Amino acid sequence: MTREELGRATWLFLHTLAAQYPEDPTRQQARDARDLVSIMTRAYPCAECARHFEEVVRRVPPDVSSGAAFRQWTCEVHNEVNVRLGKPEFDCSRVDERWQGLACDGDDDEETATGCAVRGREPGIGKGGVGGRGGGKGRRRLGMDAP
Ligand SMILES: Cc1cc2nc3c(=O)[nH]c(=O)nc-3n(C[C@H](O)[C@H](O)[C@H](O)COP(=O)(O)OP(=O)(O)OC[C@H]3O[C@@H](n4cnc5c(N)ncnc54)[C@H](O)[C@@H]3O)c2cc1C
Repeated sequence: MTREELGRATWLFLHTLAAQYPEDPTRQQARDARDLVSIMTRAYPCAECARHFEEVVRRVPPDVSSGAAFRQWTCEVHNEVNVRLGKPEFDCSRVDERWQGLACDGDDDEETATGCAVRGREPGIGKGGVGGRGGGKGRRRLGMDAP
């Protein structure tokens, strides 16, 4: 596993999580998202990356007030890392085209108004946890480089 592979997998996870983050999160959902980011600044498996990410998060704290806000924040901090690595910045107005929620593709999956749920269970990290949007909207890839 290289730093690049780990990074790509982690951004996939974070942007997908943000794509499914509800527009009107509960207090618990907002706390889950903030905690996840905070844990990443300490536990991310690349120590140098974690240190830099901690600086970024201190300067630009996560905006978990809505799905749109969290998606923009995720894009913004990804750009902070891009700039540090000398990579081009991504146009954050296109983040919803690039990243969508989980597609329903399993026999037990059910498409709901708030995303893709295993039958009988709420989407996200347990009941009331992070999860939400999706709902089939914007699933189509728009020719942007998919992982
Ligand atoms: C929290 C964190 C900190 C990191 N810190 C470091 C570090 O200090 N040093 C280091 O060498 N590596 C670091 N990495 C890894 C680095 O960010 C890249 O993941 C890695 O270099 C591979 O880059 P890539 O060009 O393949 O695309 P990635 O940057 O991994 O991006 C994957 C895809 O996301 C899309 N994308 C790009 N920018 C954005 C954006 N702003 N918003 C939405 N989508 C976007 C593009 O389609 C791109 O192909 C870090 C990763 C993470 C998750």
